Amino acid sequence: GEKEPTDINVLVDEYLRLAFHGLRAKDKSFNATLETDFDDSIGKIEIVPQDIGRVVLNLIMNAFYAVSERKTMVAKNLTGLKSYQPTVSVSTRKFKDKIEINVSDNGNGIPKNVLDKIFQPFFTTKPTGQGTGLGLSLSYDILKSHGGRIEVQSQPNEGTIFTILLPLTHK
Ligand code: ADP
Ligand code: MG
Repeated sequence: GEKEPTDINVLVDEYLRLAFHGLRAKDKSFNATLETDFDDSIGKIEIVPQDIGRVVLNLIMNAFYAVSERKTMVAKNLTGLKSYQPTVSVSTRKFKDKIEINVSDNGNGIPKNVLDKIFQPFFTTKPTGQGTGLGLSLSYDILKSHGGRIEVQSQPNEGTIFTILLPLTHK
């Protein structure tokens, strides 16, 4: 794909809705609170929209998976929590010469020994057929080729925050 001036807020919002409605169509009991906070001052940035779209979609699908897993664990009384509201939050912001896209969830989080491996190709903790383990390694490469990067912070039993950083190159 070619780089083109892209409204990142529109792109992120589209993929968020696509993922949410797709999951609901497959499973009527799927639900999650969506929180969005878009920085309207970003304007258009030079990216390959399909590639950054893939990165964002994978992060969103991972977040929905994580909250669904936790919901199942809460329902089975495995967490000590009495109630649980699955929540996925997505935000964008302009910060100095970069833009940041945050995708966070209040799912199960990622254990320390797993955190070291998540960017490796084919690493997955999902059952066969549910994950290829390629999403984050591909994301790493896509962001590298955009002069950006991806970061993760996770707290077991609290949730996970992925941050995409992209250089701000207005056109
Ligand atoms: P896949 O989704 O196919 O497993 P990814 O590369 O997207 O592959 O993710 C690799 C692994 O990282 C997942 O299997 C999971 O263990 C972990 N992971 C990624 N995102 C999250 C998240 N939001 N919460 C908990 N674990 C996550
Ligand atoms: Mg994935």
